[in-house]
Amino acid sequence: MTGNILFGWRAREYGRSRDSVALRVFLPPDDEPVDGLLVASQHGEEGATALLVRRLLERVTGRESRWAVVQVANPDGLLNGTRQNAAGVDLNRNFPSETWRSDDSFTYPPGIEDERRIVVNRTNLSSPGAHAGSEPETQAMMALVEGLAPPLVVDLHSPLELLLPRGDVPAGVVESLSRAANLPIVDDVGGPCPGAFDDWLSDCGIATIVYEVEHAGLPALCARHLPGLESLLRA
Ligand SMILES: [Zn+2]
Repeated sequence: MTGNILFGWRAREYGRSRDSVALRVFLPPDDEPVDGLLVASQHGEEGATALLVRRLLERVTGRESRWAVVQVANPDGLLNGTRQNAAGVDLNRNFPSETWRSDDSFTYPPGIEDERRIVVNRTNLSSPGAHAGSEPETQAMMALVEGLAPPLVVDLHSPLELLLPRGDVPAGVVESLSRAANLPIVDDVGGPCPGAFDDWLSDCGIATIVYEVEHAGLPALCARHLPGLESLLRA
């Protein structure tokens, strides 16, 4: 590990990406059950979420937390600047949930202006994978979840600026996150996401919060979102 030292966190490789990049999870120092799993950058074009989580890991020590943290769930996509992994698969359409579909999916290009978010501009093409759960990143994430058995998963994305609780999320948790970052709590992201991570978690009976930050620079994201996420990891 290079750069700033992360105090008290244990980094563990939980798999390899399609392009053989290590998938890493940061864990508290002991093997006690975790309170939750925080995941960022499942979409490689949403690298701001990975930078935000790095700042979080620098602020909270592993000894102060009972959370497991995946800073970069899609390292191929992050390195390439793409939503998809190295096989062109949107990992958040690849989970073997009831909702998985074999059709290609279309999303907005990264960084598109709010006013251009109309259906005709959904031109960013992804494969959902040759079959549900086809990708090594998906398989590794599923094994990680099955091994850790987190009672709550928080899945960071951008840029929709909302909180979507799914399943049995404690009301206090989602309300504190909402209050800390002034984010609306919604019950729908406004479009189908077949094969999404949160759909699979929901099928498994694991409570999830999809946490969408806005499209903004890192200082603004840290100012708005770190206080609530810090409290979550310390709780
Ligand atoms: Zn996303």
